[in-house]
Amino acid sequence: MTAPSSGRPAAFFDLDRTLIGVNSAFQYARYERRRGRLSLLQYLRASVWMGLYHLSLVDMERAFAEAVRQYRGAHVDELRQITADFFHEHVIPSFQPGAETVLAHHREQGRPLVLLTASSPYMSELAAETWDLDDWLCNQFPTDEDGCLHGTFERPMCYGAGKVHRARRWAKKHGIDLDESYFYTDSFSDLPMLEKVNNPRVVNPDPRLKRTAERRGWQVEDWSGSQAST
Ligand SMILES: [Mg+2]
Repeated sequence: MTAPSSGRPAAFFDLDRTLIGVNSAFQYARYERRRGRLSLLQYLRASVWMGLYHLSLVDMERAFAEAVRQYRGAHVDELRQITADFFHEHVIPSFQPGAETVLAHHREQGRPLVLLTASSPYMSELAAETWDLDDWLCNQFPTDEDGCLHGTFERPMCYGAGKVHRARRWAKKHGIDLDESYFYTDSFSDLPMLEKVNNPRVVNPDPRLKRTAERRGWQVEDWSGSQAST
């Protein structure tokens, strides 16, 4: 038997293909490729991984480790600047029209709005500022004392069950009732977090998540137009 829960619920949101209509990691790899920062080989490998990522077929943590290793020695200020340029050019225009209605609804209900994403902290902070979210949970990349990345990430990765780990820790710290919370996502890989909350919400789902949602009677939403329910 679980202990009685306390606190108020929060609303958690995935970023890629949920709040925004694209996979920003894939777009970012293309952007980096155009700027000549990724070799063609690196780009092709990143593209293949991201295709597989969408299908949840590979060991994401291993693939992610290799991707992050490419940034060893990069300075955090430089990454922030590149991400900011990318964000304004590619991410802001892909905000899903239906997301605003849902964000506003939860805001009116007094629920904290929290981004829960596999993205970088640089991207997540910009997203939270832009769409007026209260906090963000994402992957973290440790740096040395000069602000250069080690090329590693904090484990568990903020992906799959790793999202539940981070949400649970955050909820405890902020007096949030995680069981009564909401989580919005498009991806089957987010099943652990969808199962954790009592208010799972499936947004423009991938085929596997669509089938799962239909079987379980979960609410499926389309945010690609301006009409959205909560
Ligand atoms: Mg997603």
